[in-house]
Amino acid sequence: MKTTTKGKIPPMCQHQPPCPTADSADRESARLVAHHPEQGWSLLCNGVLLFEDTGELLPDGQIIAPHRPLGADKVMTAA
Ligand SMILES: [Zn+2]
Repeated sequence: MKTTTKGKIPPMCQHQPPCPTADSADRESARLVAHHPEQGWSLLCNGVLLFEDTGELLPDGQIIAPHRPLGADKVMTAA
């Protein structure tokens, strides 16, 4: 092995302008680099794994809970 880049993962994003980083609040607007709908996840170019239930796994191992907008199951009010 001639590469010794162990530990620090180089940024995958080579877009111009660069996409939001994984610790940015806008991280979901990074571009897709891999999309696996049959497995229910996508990989963004900032290293974020985005699941189809809108949960996220950040490159540092942090898990973001799903935050899909509600509205499908409205509370029925008997008027
Ligand atoms: Zn990018």
